[in-house]
Amino acid sequence: MDCCPHGHLHGRLPITRTAAWLPALLALLVAGCVSHPPAGPSAAAATAVATPATNDPGATLQARRTWRFEADGIRFDNQLSAARLSGVERVGDGRYRVDIAPEVHPVNPSPWYGFRIRSDAPRALELRFAYPHDYRHRYVPKLSRDGRDWQEADPTAFQVDADGNARLLLQLEAGELRVFAQPPLLPGDFEAWSTRIAAQVDAATGRFGSSVQGRPLRMFEFGAGADAPLLLVVGRQHPPENTGTQALMGFVEALAADTPQARAFRGRVQVLVVPLLNPDGVVEGHWRGNARGVDINRDWGPFAQPETRALRDLLAARGARGRTVFAIDFHSTFRDVFYTVAEDPARAPDGVLHAWMAAMQAEFDIDDRPSAARTPVFKNWAFCHLGAPAVTYEVGDSTPAATLGEVARHAAASLMALLADPPPPAAAPDCPSFPYG
Ligand SMILES: [Zn+2]
Repeated sequence: MDCCPHGHLHGRLPITRTAAWLPALLALLVAGCVSHPPAGPSAAAATAVATPATNDPGATLQARRTWRFEADGIRFDNQLSAARLSGVERVGDGRYRVDIAPEVHPVNPSPWYGFRIRSDAPRALELRFAYPHDYRHRYVPKLSRDGRDWQEADPTAFQVDADGNARLLLQLEAGELRVFAQPPLLPGDFEAWSTRIAAQVDAATGRFGSSVQGRPLRMFEFGAGADAPLLLVVGRQHPPENTGTQALMGFVEALAADTPQARAFRGRVQVLVVPLLNPDGVVEGHWRGNARGVDINRDWGPFAQPETRALRDLLAARGARGRTVFAIDFHSTFRDVFYTVAEDPARAPDGVLHAWMAAMQAEFDIDDRPSAARTPVFKNWAFCHLGAPAVTYEVGDSTPAATLGEVARHAAASLMALLADPPPPAAAPDCPSFPYG
């Protein structure tokens, strides 16, 4: 088992273990082999949370501000992209409570947080995280002085008690420290990555719509052309889900690689990639929703949001119905699990989904959780409307980068082998349980 989840995120966002800026912090903060149990509710409880999302729940965007404690020479702020901080209170000498509230309530318990602390001088600090409505701390803090090199808080400096209350001890140097649930991946990071992959495979890139706040929704497509069987890759409907994005990137990089298998695959299949469907949620530091607080992965049926409508319309323009031979939507949760559609004929022993799942489970400990297609999530819509074998590919929040990369490459290689020439035709959509036409 690869114990320490540190490495390079595709060479662009290094998470280093030895940072020159940290000598004074090392005693408290040297990243160890952290294996905190999920601080939040169990995975079963998390997935059981019903998320009403067909209507605008009326989210309020957080106020961007700075909290100043001049006597202590300390300032907190949530001014950075992807930051989330709702309040700060000094509760004692060197002790502060940081309040983190979701964009809307109730919401899936994914308590994303992110803030910057600036200190005039070196000093010790104790932070207590406070969440409303019995939400529990979920993500082990990631720390950075410069926004590029990130380090996970050491278990000796970070604890979550049985009630889900978290405490973080910091030994600050003069200057700034960023404390985030995960190293932020911003729209510009997605764009830089997409541009690099697109150049590698001579892909067409494009903007297919706009988010609620007017940010571009971007895609790129490459492979065998407009009439070829189509593979759909979608990601980041939910803002905090970094590990899912890392898996998406590893998966797509394998499809775009300069290998005989990938070259042959691109000669017979077209790949369409939408790596970031919820840019507003990412920039706003939301736990789950878009700028309106709507969970867009509960909008594949209502289509009340511009993000889902834009992708639906793009897929209609590409003739994706009946042409899509596989669809994957990347997410993160408490563990590695693939959700599939129970009524999908590709799950039968001679089906491509069955074979792909078997290939994955032969190598890795990944659950296959089929369920009837009743909810308006992308996977169900892709099966019920496009006729595609469809998977929600969930990566554990703390799955090490090396492991999730290995799984993603195996997922891509297995799928390329299974979508051999000619790829199996898409099934005729048949979805009586899906209540959306
Ligand atoms: Zn998700």
